[in-house]
Amino acid sequence: MTDTQFQYIDGEWCDGDSDDELVIRDPAAPDDPVVSFPGASRSQAAAAVGAAAAASETWGATTPEERDAVMYAVADRIEDHHEELARTLTREEGKPLSSSRAEVGRAAELFRFFASFTRTAAGDTLPSSDPETFTYTVREPLGVVALVTPWNFPIATPTWKLAAAIATGNTVVFKPSSETPMVARALVDHLEAAGLPEGVVNLVVGSGSTVGDEILTDERIDAVSFTGSTDVGQHIAGTVAERGIPVQTEMGGKNPQVVLPDADLETAADAAAAGAFGLTGQACTATSRLIVHEDVVEEVTEAVVARAEDIQTGPGIEDPDMGPAVSAEQDETNFQYIEVAEAEGATLLTGGDRPDGRESDAGYFVEPTVFTDVEPGMRIAQEEVFGPVLSILAVSDFEEALAVANDVEYGLSASLFTADMASARRFTEEIEAGVVKINGTTTGSQIQMPFGGMKASSSETQKELGHRAYEFYTHKKAVYRTDP
Ligand code: NAP
Ligand code: MG
Repeated sequence: MTDTQFQYIDGEWCDGDSDDELVIRDPAAPDDPVVSFPGASRSQAAAAVGAAAAASETWGATTPEERDAVMYAVADRIEDHHEELARTLTREEGKPLSSSRAEVGRAAELFRFFASFTRTAAGDTLPSSDPETFTYTVREPLGVVALVTPWNFPIATPTWKLAAAIATGNTVVFKPSSETPMVARALVDHLEAAGLPEGVVNLVVGSGSTVGDEILTDERIDAVSFTGSTDVGQHIAGTVAERGIPVQTEMGGKNPQVVLPDADLETAADAAAAGAFGLTGQACTATSRLIVHEDVVEEVTEAVVARAEDIQTGPGIEDPDMGPAVSAEQDETNFQYIEVAEAEGATLLTGGDRPDGRESDAGYFVEPTVFTDVEPGMRIAQEEVFGPVLSILAVSDFEEALAVANDVEYGLSASLFTADMASARRFTEEIEAGVVKINGTTTGSQIQMPFGGMKASSSETQKELGHRAYEFYTHKKAVYRTDP
């Protein structure tokens, strides 16, 4: 593969043949592009779907042993190239090197975890009402699955979709974010080297609105799994719904952390700072609202501000506490929301600027930012920023905390800090969120646990990750077999 070949169609690496030029930048040094190359054209996207469709029957008929052998080999290769992959990820996405290393390690773990699906994505045998008839269910691959992914976990998110899809016998057209195609290409390169047959996974790099659209409107696609913003996800769900094929959309969040007076306040402050500023706030599960009981709001606020001011920002490659925002667009969004919050009357306690007087051409850096006096109806309390900007809202009791926590369109992740088991139980029952933490950060998930949101955060069709993630990628056929 040459430096500019980012398209992998039917087992061949090639250049994009559209007029769109993709320019990949290091967000810590954006002036000096890392690579630029032509994006795929619509006809290349269609060819990728065609290759996946052609490979579908053969791959769907492979044995579990054949499929898991490739998956274990990919996991090994990812581990063998761990540092190189982590550096590639940091170069284009900007996150601290240790975060990239952890994410790459997780990708290997995901291939091994999902390899078990080749043998465990099972149907059921059920008692039959007719003694002459044997009743059971079987799981079958869907066929061709389109995967459309964002930039913030550019190897883990594609992997948890792709590994589940190929383990269950599907073929794939993978459209990564235009911000992070280098690590996507490296992943596919390892799949090829691990012996994945041609056509089983095809990579198409190009703009979402052209090649993404081409893939999703192709009649040969049998299912779509998307992770990204709510606007794009809802648009895609609408497009695909017309055809009635399975679609899974995991989208934005506005995740609350609630702190009650009986909580361990130091631990709660640690969690809030980690959840809000870790990964530059660019996690779909990032903590963006800290909802604190009025009796302890002053103490918690002070503790969180102190932690924010302690955070070292810098280029991801130097492994600081916090790297830059991913792109010029996200950088602009961060500063726009800081302005919006101030205009709405929120009080800026710390941050709000570029660190150490950095200029914008020296990277998309922003200080960890904390606002207080935030009211539930303000835009800063309602809209996803996707940056290191935390809003503190004071409440007078648990009921109000719960109401405020639920008073947003999103419902991805939520956490409660308390020592009271009754409050913990009510919170888990009444919070509108797909992931609930008691005395833990809103961020972070275990791969054996299902992952996904509620409300505008998710289509709620089928959770990702977890031991039943194969359900999205398989038909369950009910069979009644009566002997002649
Ligand atoms: P995005 O702008 O929605 O893009 C996601 C993907 O969709 C990209 O590959 C994008 O391609 C593609 N796309 C854009 N427009 C499209 C269209 N009309 N048709 C088909 N595909 C299209 O999201 P992002 O900026 O990459 O990521 C940040 C967002 O992802 C945040 O809102 C975050 O909360 C969310 N997220 C959610 C989860 C979760 O599990 N719930 C996890 C991580 C991130 P281009 O890059 O070419 O535009
Ligand atoms: Mg985008």
